[in-house]
Order: sequence, then structure tokens, then C-alpha cells
Amino acid sequence: MGVESGQKREHPVILRLAVPVPLRRLFDYLPPAGLTADDLHPGQRFWVPFGNRSLVAVLVDVVSESPLAELKPALEQIDSLSVFDDRSRGFLQWAADYYQAPLGELYAAALPVALRKGKPADHWAEQWLELTTEGKGLPETALARAKKQQELLQLLLRSGRQSRTVLNARGLNTTVCKALIERGLARWESGPTAPPPMEEVAPRPAPELNDEQREAIDAVSLGNFSASLLEGTTGSGKTEVYLRLMERALAEGQQALLLVPEIGLTPQTLRRIAARFPDHRIAALHSGLADGERARAWLSAASGVADIVIGTRSAIFTPLPRLGVILVDEEHDGSFKQQDGVRYSARDLSVVLARNAGVPVLLGSATPSLESLHNALSGRYQHLRLRHRAGNARPPQISLVPTLHQPLQEGFAPQSLRHIGDTLARGEQALVFINRRGYAPALTCDDCGWLADCPHCSSKLTLHRRQRHLRCHHCDYRQPEVHRCPQCHSRNINALGTGTERSEDFLAHTFSDFPVIRVDRDTTASKQALDRLLEPARNGEPCLLLGTQMLAKGHHLPKVTLVVIQDADGGLFSADFRAPERMGQLLEQVAGRAGRGDLPGHVLVQSRYPEHPLLQLLLNKGYGPFARQLLEERELTGLPPYRAMALVRAECEEPRWAEEFLNNARNYLQALAPPSPQLQYLGPVPALLERKSGRFRFYLQITAEKRGLLQGLLARFTHWAESNKNRRLRWAVDMDAQELS
Ligand code: ADP
Ligand code: ZN
Ligand code: ZN
Repeated sequence: MGVESGQKREHPVILRLAVPVPLRRLFDYLPPAGLTADDLHPGQRFWVPFGNRSLVAVLVDVVSESPLAELKPALEQIDSLSVFDDRSRGFLQWAADYYQAPLGELYAAALPVALRKGKPADHWAEQWLELTTEGKGLPETALARAKKQQELLQLLLRSGRQSRTVLNARGLNTTVCKALIERGLARWESGPTAPPPMEEVAPRPAPELNDEQREAIDAVSLGNFSASLLEGTTGSGKTEVYLRLMERALAEGQQALLLVPEIGLTPQTLRRIAARFPDHRIAALHSGLADGERARAWLSAASGVADIVIGTRSAIFTPLPRLGVILVDEEHDGSFKQQDGVRYSARDLSVVLARNAGVPVLLGSATPSLESLHNALSGRYQHLRLRHRAGNARPPQISLVPTLHQPLQEGFAPQSLRHIGDTLARGEQALVFINRRGYAPALTCDDCGWLADCPHCSSKLTLHRRQRHLRCHHCDYRQPEVHRCPQCHSRNINALGTGTERSEDFLAHTFSDFPVIRVDRDTTASKQALDRLLEPARNGEPCLLLGTQMLAKGHHLPKVTLVVIQDADGGLFSADFRAPERMGQLLEQVAGRAGRGDLPGHVLVQSRYPEHPLLQLLLNKGYGPFARQLLEERELTGLPPYRAMALVRAECEEPRWAEEFLNNARNYLQALAPPSPQLQYLGPVPALLERKSGRFRFYLQITAEKRGLLQGLLARFTHWAESNKNRRLRWAVDMDAQELS
């Protein structure tokens, strides 16, 4: 901060800090009083004055001269040790450059909330119980007469040391610890943060690997960089491959990072990993954690205490000093791409991190993204495949059910209802997939044609009958349910279309002898709720599961033998070029829920266009050939992954301003690099959802043959745009954009 001056002034010690503000530059400060150069380590956090606020900034560099004449001192040093090691700082810098993001915002995205708010890391320092030399010399059979003490001794012999929190959680309380200490066998030491204790689960041995799994595992070697795509049908044992690679890394004393989609980090997943590695420290990082717990998990990973780190998107930014392997489950999943703020892709960054760290990364999916598939087919990634389902499970049989000119009941064809009834009567389970929450996606007046629109978005309101309100799924606007038309006062108000609530009512009425379990965001506010909801299904009783894409992933429900997809047509005619890819992934994943146990599975796909060539290809040949066909089309049309693509987005309450801003941006960029066969500009065009939360949204699309050219242009653009003074206009760079919405 301070006044620019032509002269540079020398200071012995200047802090160069990344401050969480939307400016793509660093800020210089003097150290707080009393600190010397020896106290300073890049990666420490400081409180700094910024305008009239105090912010938490991260030390990037210590320098001896600044272009600014007058520097303010930072207010306070938060950490005595560095929170970000060298590698993670280099990685964050790389990501900031690639995504055209302010480094300070990236550091903020990397930190868990409690640390972002400036809480000192020491707050979570931990007491550890360690064995003395005498204790280490004892056999596991010692202390047989004091069962609890023996249990504690055995735990310490296996794991080296244990934190007080974990010991308490395992019922090994202070008295037991004290007994061991008094015998001279153990002592308390203070040490780094340990991950929050996990629910205890019975250890489960690993199954014998099949040949394909063994080949995949052997193709990945620890200790140097490689990127691999593991393309394996649902239920083919990909998770088993992840577990074995983790095991290998742990045996080398390394940390394993497993990234999972938001929906994938369920208690079921955690239990499976905990059951395999009962003596290792597991840190789970997800949004369901309280701030303190999340900070604890993060710090335990960053200090190298946690052996296994499982997390959603932002876990990619956790410093991992002993990193040995990165695994990305369901790598195609959209939740790996952040859609606001710093728009990074954790999947793509995992490959960069693996390269920087010199470790292998494995991207796994039954339905790989076209990006990863292209990398595998072109030889940039190793292509590993699991073609068969593990154990006894067979692939399901798939049938198309035409819905045009059929007497549908709440969207179900008679054939589908018959199959559901038969499945339940046989004592098995059926799953119905409906990609729409609420009771009905629209409310209309039959007399004048009025439609319930969101006042803030270019979208219709969804009727949620349970809560008696209308809700916008884009901005969360709510209003009470309407029984009289606001336009013509008629009472002929009609709910159009079917959502999960409406189907639940209908199915519960039709199959009243069986439980109907609805799974969508409204019934599963917490991850635990989903776990509880699925309890009867896991127990194997006949039941009918009904839900949105929350049901498409992760859950292993061996008694589900029938899957009904109510409407397969969503992705066939969208303006978004990625829509067919997403449709294929979703259908394949949902279909993959059928017949995962010993019983054969059957999938019914309802469609108005059963002859559509894409649908035919997907259902007859499977996702693999379908995806390869889509790749050919992308190549012909010059779209990703054959071209690099970025969107420059702008939104404003006043649509003209957003459009004008992007027009100016286009003119500016075209003057630097005119359109050519290697570089194309499209737009500005309105986003698919043109108005959201009261703001009109536009984008300018830039596609380039060479990523470097696009990068250079975007860097110039952000520099140009930062001088934009219209405070009501928001802009963003969306590198490798996934959504045109
Ligand atoms: P994916 O992750 O590909 O969907 P999973 O790893 O969850 O598949 O495996 C599906 C089921 O098959 C699980 O119940 C798992 O325990 C079991 N399984 C995996 N590998 C084997 C194997 N080699 N032999 C027997 N069962 C296996
Ligand atoms: Zn009306
Ligand atoms: Zn809205």
C-alpha cells in the first residue's frame, strides 16, 4: 500500500503478501514490530490493514525493496510456522496464472473457513500418547490382565502414537493412559493436529483381485509422475483399485489423496475406507463439517499427520508434504469444476499437482469425460480398463420404452409400472430416476395461460406442495402456493409436469404395500440423512427408491434389480454442446445401479424419441462407443477437447452494459489477435439462463487451437478489465468452461 513514487526505497525486510481481494497483484508491507527476518517464512498468515478493513493475507516472498515509497506495517503474524509448504505455494501460483485468478483469492479458497478467518493453527495443537523405549519393547500379548491397557498398548504398537481425541473417542480414557504412563511404558508429548476421530468400523479384509484389477494396479508405479485413466464399468471394482494403490503408498510412508464428487463423500464411502485401513489416520474434508473440525482435518493433512485425505473439490489445494498418489473418483463429475469465484477444475489440477510432486494420478470413471478420454486415446494418459463387473454381478439388460401415444400415468408407461410391481412382488428393489425436484416444474392457469415465473430469473417457479410454496431453483426465491390466477382470478390452476414429490404420491398410492423412499435435495439436507434414508434399502427389504441424480452415484445397493429412467430425452436437443455427454453419463450411471449383487438387473429407459441415433448408440453399445462418437463430432466442429475454450462472462442488472462491456472486450482482444482459423470469437451472446437473481448474463466465447495463445489473451483481458470502473457490472474469466448456463 502507499503512494507510488519513481524512486525505490531500500528496506531491510519487506513482506510481499497475497491479499484476498479481486486484484491480480501482490501487496507489500513492513513486518509487524519486533519481528526479524528469521521469524519470517513464506506460507505464514498475517493480519494486514487494507483500506479500512483488516484481512488475512499469506506471505509469498520476503524482499528487500519495493516500488512503493511508503509501506504500512502488517498488524500481526498469525502463524509461527508456515501453513503452506513450498510445493503447495508453487502449485497455487500455477493455478492463479492458469485460471487468471488473484493469488490472494486462491489462498482463501485453499484455506478452511476457520483459518481463512485468521484463527491460529496452534489452537488445534494436540497431545499425543507415545510409547517409551520400554513400551516399544513389549510384545502385543503383554498386559493380558488389564484388558483396556492391553488394547491401548496394542494400538500404540501398531500406530506409533495416538492423539488424545482419538483415544477418548475409542473409549481409552485418561485413566487407562495414566496406568500405562505410571508403568513407564508411555508418555504424553505435544504435537501437531490430528484428524477428527472417525466412527469405528469393523476391519474388512480385501477381496482377491481379478486379472484386470491387478493389471491396472501394476501399471501405476509410485515415485514418479504418470497420469492414467481407469475406464471401468460401474461395479467393476474401481474403488478396490484405489484402495490397493492407497495401501501401496501408505506402505511407503506416503500420503494418499482421494478426490470424490460432492455427492460421493458419503458415510458409506468413509466406512469402506476406514474398514480397510483401521490403523491409519484418515482426514475427510467436506462441506458437511463444522468449521473447527474442518480446520482440524486440513491441518492434520498439511502437517503430514493424516495418511489418507478424502475430500471434495477444494481438497486439491490442501498441502500434503508426504503426497504419494492422487486418485480421482468419478472424474467426469461436474462438481470438480467450481462454477463461481475462482473457476478451477480440481480434476485438471490433480494432474498438474501430480506432475509437480512427481507422483502418479489415476482418474477413474465408468463414464469418462471426453477430455480425459481424449487424453487416454491420444496416448497422453495411460488407458487402463476394467471391462467386467467384479464378483458375480452381470451387466444389466436395457430396454427402451416409447412414451409417445401411450396412456401415461404421471409420466409412467404401463409397461414400466408392470415391471415395478413384479420386481417388488419378487421381494426385490426398484429404483426410479426423475431428474426434477419438487411436485411440478410449472404452474399455469387453464383459462388465460398465465405461468408462474420467477420475478428475478428467466425461469419458471417449481411447485413444492409439501412446503406449500413455489420456489425458483436458480435463486431460491419463494412465494406461497397460488390457488387463484393472479391475472384472471380463475381457480383453474394446474400443475404441469412431474417432479419427485408428485411421483412419490403416485407411486406410494399405486404400490401401497411397499415403502417408497424419496431421495432428493429436499429429503437429504445432510449427508447423514441420506445414509439413514437408504437404511431399509441397504437392509435388503423390498422397496421402491425414487429420486434425482443423488441416486445415480456411489451407492452400492445389491438388491436393486430394476431401474426405471422416467425421461431420457433431456440432453438430446439442448443448446449446450456438452448436454449429450452429460446425458450419456447420467443414464449410464443410473443404469449401473441395477443388478450389482448376485441378481440380474434390468433397466427401462422411457423416451419420446426411441429412434434417436444417439440414444440408440448409447443403449445398444454403451457409453464407450457413444463417447467416441461424440469425440468425432467435437473434432469436426472444432470444440473441446480439440480446442481450448474460455468464456469471458459479464452480468449486470442493466443488460446493455454487460453486452457493451463484452463488445468492447472483443474489440480489444481482436485488435491484439484477429480471428483466424486458429482463433475464434463468438458473442457476446446471452447465457442459457439469461437472467439470474435480477442480473442479465452474457458471455463471449473464445476458442483457440493453442492453449498458450488463449492464456496470453486472457491475461491481457484481465489487465484491461480490472480498470473497469462500473461497480454494478461483474465479470469473470471461465477457463475450460463446463457450463454455458
Ligand atoms: P466400482 O467402484 O467400479 O463401482 P467397487 O470397487 O465398488 O466398483 O466394486 C463393486 C463391488 O464388487 C463391491 O461390493 C466390491 O467389494 C466388490 N469387488 C470389487 N473387487 C472385487 C474382487 N476382485 N472380487 C470380488 N468382489 C470384488
Ligand atoms: Zn388466468
Ligand atoms: Zn429465480
